[in-house]
Amino acid sequence: MRHRFRSASALGPFLPLTADEREALDRAGDRLSLGITPHVLSLIDPDDPADPIRRTMVPQTAELATAPWERDDPLGEEGHSPLPGLVHTYPDKALFLVTDFCAVYCRYCTRARLVGDGGMGADRRRWEACLDYIRARPAIRDVLLSGGDPLTLSDERLDWLLKALRAIPHVDLIRIGTKIPLVLPQRITPALVRVLRRAHPLWFSVHATHPRELVPEAARALARLADGGIPMCGQTVLLQGVNDDPEVMKALMLGLIRNRVKPYYLHQCDLITGSAHFKTPVEAGLRILEALHGHTTGYAVPHFMIDAPGGGGKIPLSPEYVVGRDRDDLLLRNYRGETTRYPDPLPVAERGRARPAIETSR
Ligand SMILES: *Cc1c(COP(=O)(O)O)cnc(C)c1O
Repeated sequence: MRHRFRSASALGPFLPLTADEREALDRAGDRLSLGITPHVLSLIDPDDPADPIRRTMVPQTAELATAPWERDDPLGEEGHSPLPGLVHTYPDKALFLVTDFCAVYCRYCTRARLVGDGGMGADRRRWEACLDYIRARPAIRDVLLSGGDPLTLSDERLDWLLKALRAIPHVDLIRIGTKIPLVLPQRITPALVRVLRRAHPLWFSVHATHPRELVPEAARALARLADGGIPMCGQTVLLQGVNDDPEVMKALMLGLIRNRVKPYYLHQCDLITGSAHFKTPVEAGLRILEALHGHTTGYAVPHFMIDAPGGGGKIPLSPEYVVGRDRDDLLLRNYRGETTRYPDPLPVAERGRARPAIETSR
């Protein structure tokens, strides 16, 4: 962590910066700062300005532009935040932002407004207020720890926090959202796993972006967590020019499965300020799901989600496999594109009504 690259002058000798990257770093001002671990630098091909991992970590001037629909708080989290660092959008689960600190600063970060600026530190008084809120609400049975990255906390502080949560009888599930296994794999020590396994049932959401992240060091970190009995789900942000290719995404999803991580969410990139160069058409995500479903292991198919702007919550999108109806038959399309008929008589009450075959767009 101490050896992270935090400036153009520190990074330059190891990763020759393009003129655009230098300008972006010069002009970034108080925007999301630079933070790259030596491990992540080792994943980047220094001779390729379009290297996918480089694009997610090194700012470009495109990041300084704001599209009309972009917001610093695209999910309207502040509006669902009863206390600093607690987001309570859904009935039985709460998002607890335990720290604003991350090992790396992803350029498309949904919480760029919080991370890295010290405004949401891991201080005990703030934590106590959030814990009190959870203690007072028996409806909250699922607490998702995020931030920042919770695994940047020391073992001692994490242990204290997990024990405090486990002492709340109605907290059933604890989850940790993290990118640490892939960006600072050294952090996943046997001592950390001992702390984590005391908090079971504890699940992980592992943030993964590109199959090239799944190097042997990351694989060992994930294996330690899996061997610690921690079920892991994968979450990936769909990013233009990084992972919006069906073959790249398939390699990532299968790589996660191989490392005992179940691909869970494929997120449409949130409409965060300065992210237009990462945004893909929604259609691209649907095509990627079609390229996975049926063509490979079903476990490797994530849910494709849009988190609605302004706090509407997550909405799943799915390719359409129902192509229409012909009287009592539903017309379905399979993964090979063949249409099949599935007998699906309408309920008796609806018989006799005019039932034209439904035309759909497909
Ligand atoms: C994503 C999210 C959750 C967790 O949602 P799941 O669909 O259960 O994984 C909880 N709270 C907030 C505010 C979220 O954005």
